[in-house]
Amino acid sequence: MRDVNRREFLTGGAAFLSLAAEAELLAGPIPAGMAEAAKADLVAPDIYFHEGRLADNADAVCNNGWIVFEDYVLVIDANFPAGARLIISKIRALTDKPIRFAFDTHHHGDHAYGNQVYVENGAVPIAHTGVIEEMKRYETGYYGNQPGAWEAATKGRADLKTTKLKPPSVLFSKDLFFDDGRHRVELMHLGVAHTHGDALAWLPKERILFAGDVCVNGPYNYVGDGDVGEWVATLEAARKLGAQIVCTGHGPRSVGTVLDDQQAFFKALREQVGALMAKRPPEEAKAQIESIRATLKGNAQIARYVGERGTGWDPLPAQAAKVYEELTGQKLAALMPEPQLARHAHARSHGLASA
Ligand SMILES: [Zn+2]
Ligand SMILES: [Zn+2]
Repeated sequence: MRDVNRREFLTGGAAFLSLAAEAELLAGPIPAGMAEAAKADLVAPDIYFHEGRLADNADAVCNNGWIVFEDYVLVIDANFPAGARLIISKIRALTDKPIRFAFDTHHHGDHAYGNQVYVENGAVPIAHTGVIEEMKRYETGYYGNQPGAWEAATKGRADLKTTKLKPPSVLFSKDLFFDDGRHRVELMHLGVAHTHGDALAWLPKERILFAGDVCVNGPYNYVGDGDVGEWVATLEAARKLGAQIVCTGHGPRSVGTVLDDQQAFFKALREQVGALMAKRPPEEAKAQIESIRATLKGNAQIARYVGERGTGWDPLPAQAAKVYEELTGQKLAALMPEPQLARHAHARSHGLASA
């Protein structure tokens, strides 16, 4: 397929495309090796996973999935615009079936800011209704007159300057099924977790779960927009699905036990903050964070979720501050420069630079 130029490639299969979409796809040849690269993402027949990279200069930041149905392709997470273009190129190198749907697992920029690119390529962004509620809360530039998350993220990513925010327009309140007899994908909201609008994609036939940021595989838990206590319960519901393969929102593809590990991390974090911080006033509580880090790092099951101090990539103080606030009702972050820095660093890569 890589020897075929885009116009030949699109002939016959592209009647559904708008002129603008065709122009975008015709912008250049499909990069050499794209079909081979896309094949490397194969998880099961017709089911693909691409691992993103959590960095400001990465094209695809969050992880992506896509499922090739008989008549169309469903993409899991829109990614940032540059990531959307990369994933569309990969899909185009594999199949000429139309990309009909882009499912945003939640409202964060690294999962949803590529929506407009998908729209221009003939797809409709889909999400749980909570994604719109979250966007109304944070996207004050789109919904009002105050610069919001999108405007802040634009400062750090050039690809955002070439497009615009496009909230999902097909919404579900609990679940939504795609089933053509061969493949079945169940989009489902299992409760509050990483945000108030998370949904997962469950493939019961293959026992594959695309978890979005409800479950990550590494020190990538941003907790500022969700609820860690409810997150533990939502992970319990996800565990009950019985997934064999889990494609997390960030970090390498994994297996069912990654849900156990993610849940164990939050349980241990809550136990530690409850035991060492919750009975202390904020300034004293803050001094306990390094001993909590040492305890969590000492637990092999969850050590990979714990950030490294002083690396510029340390979500632990912000995570501890969030749990402290959940347990005591008192804010810790305002007193601490470190968690704000961590929150900022992580938030920036999530398209939340104003955080
Ligand atoms: Zn993310
Ligand atoms: Zn996120």
